[in-house]
Amino acid sequence: MINIKTPAEIDAMRTGGAILANILEEIKAYTQAGMTTHRLNEYAETLFAKYSVIPSFKGYQGFPAAICTAINDEVVHGIPNNAAIKTGDIIGVDAGVFYKNLHTDSAITFAVGSVSPIAQMLINETTNALWAGINMVKPGNQIGDVSYAIYNHLKKHNITVIPELIGHGVGHKLHEEPQVPNIGKQHSGPTLKPGMTFAIEPITCLGKRNIETLSDKWTIVTKDGSLACQQEHTVLVTTTGVEVLTEKKAFTNS
Ligand code: MG
Ligand code: MG
Repeated sequence: MINIKTPAEIDAMRTGGAILANILEEIKAYTQAGMTTHRLNEYAETLFAKYSVIPSFKGYQGFPAAICTAINDEVVHGIPNNAAIKTGDIIGVDAGVFYKNLHTDSAITFAVGSVSPIAQMLINETTNALWAGINMVKPGNQIGDVSYAIYNHLKKHNITVIPELIGHGVGHKLHEEPQVPNIGKQHSGPTLKPGMTFAIEPITCLGKRNIETLSDKWTIVTKDGSLACQQEHTVLVTTTGVEVLTEKKAFTNS
């Protein structure tokens, strides 16, 4: 069953999502070559405390950190560690905020210093694919319309979708219905209704689609070592279209 959120629940997710946007922006601004992802996680912990919110991921199925980090060929679910970030790396930071009993989920992938043109293309076009999907969100459209728009955009840029890693409903739980794949057919899947909230997250790479999980049992990497990217927002279906809940905006943390 797909939850329809009440106005009060939507307000809570709006505030939590805005806080999450601030947290991700502050982590990005803080990131420098020479730091470890462990240091980024420590900094993230101070931000969750500053905003008086709970990191959704910490303890989720035993995940040991507040954020997931993913450098270069790491795709998603990376545990922050003591490897140093280097100039020319791309780094993904994925985080969730739990506020007033509701989760929001968002991820960014960005360049550390200047990166190769193809790495920058992967970041830009995965972001544009996320927005192509977001732009399909309105009452009456279907999840397949979102999935198709994401895939169609990525295909034009020869970017590979990793099909088993998908978006999802979010709110009462970190992962709830519906599933939001990054490949799909138009006019298929659940119909969008006002009050639905879900995370859209194209997860891509430059090489083959095959992935594997490292011995830490969490970090997923591309098998061929190609660069990977994730860009994610939590969205709300409104009566007329879409509201992106995890964009930076003014909020009051009451
Ligand atoms: Mg996420
Ligand atoms: Mg997600």
